Amino acid sequence: MKTPLIGICRHRLATDGEGVTTLVAFHGCPLRCKYCLNKQCLRADGMWREMDVQEILNEVMVDNLYFQATGGGVTFGGGEPLLRSDAIARFCKLKPKGWHISVETSLNVNRRHLEEVAPYVDHYYIDIKDMNPDIYRRYTAADNRHVSDNLRWLTTHGDTGKVTIRLPHIPDYNTKADIAESRKRLKAMGFVEFDYFDYIQRD
Ligand code: SF4
Repeated sequence: MKTPLIGICRHRLATDGEGVTTLVAFHGCPLRCKYCLNKQCLRADGMWREMDVQEILNEVMVDNLYFQATGGGVTFGGGEPLLRSDAIARFCKLKPKGWHISVETSLNVNRRHLEEVAPYVDHYYIDIKDMNPDIYRRYTAADNRHVSDNLRWLTTHGDTGKVTIRLPHIPDYNTKADIAESRKRLKAMGFVEFDYFDYIQRD
């Protein structure tokens, strides 16, 4: 089965952990973030290519030696990569041992997607936007119940050490006090690693 992609980006350094990584970015996302930087993943005509799992593996395999030598690997992003959990799981069953697998996700997906990839993921970069449901809805046009449920699921499975939580400042949507409140709630859940940054304001 073919999976739609918006791009494959090789030779990334210091963007998502150790070593050289390749980003495999999938088309499609359940959110409609106001300042989305990858709007092509939301448009029907924004797809780059459709590839099956073996074709994706063949494409990224050219950097096998870099991955093995540097402790790097493949990062799945998008769009929302967990919508393609079946493709990620099949990819991970086929890939060579030793590749570090990361996902960049909003975690706003049905639990079954998270459960499908969890056995293979070494690290999650989770952009929670803001834990306040009202701020979240205004910014993304979606509710964040799946996000909270999936964060709890990660804690009950002892996976908090595999998680970096991204806590953005979202101009016109949240404040430093809101970010501090999100952090407090996430710390109480057991998360320990946080990444703070500013979204770039776009129309
Ligand atoms: S989650 Fe990411 S890809 Fe999806 S709409 Fe928001 S910024 Fe865009």
